[in-house]
Amino acid sequence: MRLRQKQPRVKLEPKEYTLIRKRVLERDGWRCRDCGSVNKLQVHHLKPRSGLGSDTMTNLITLCALCLMPSNQTTLDAFAAGTSEV
Ligand SMILES: [Zn+2]
Repeated sequence: MRLRQKQPRVKLEPKEYTLIRKRVLERDGWRCRDCGSVNKLQVHHLKPRSGLGSDTMTNLITLCALCLMPSNQTTLDAFAAGTSEV
């Protein structure tokens, strides 16, 4: 164990990610954080993995497929900026 090793981001194993994904869904009440839909829910990275986003509760949000469409990306930006925190 190298405890002092710098960790710029958290990237979980698939098994762990499945668990945290469920915790995010439970935290958000199994509803889309934007429109409140309970259909086609997905756990979305506010900060994408490609942009060093971490697999952490704070970087993950429950959204439905509709709200994840590219035309709704401004909503995600607002979430990412913390301006829509409920
Ligand atoms: Zn939605």
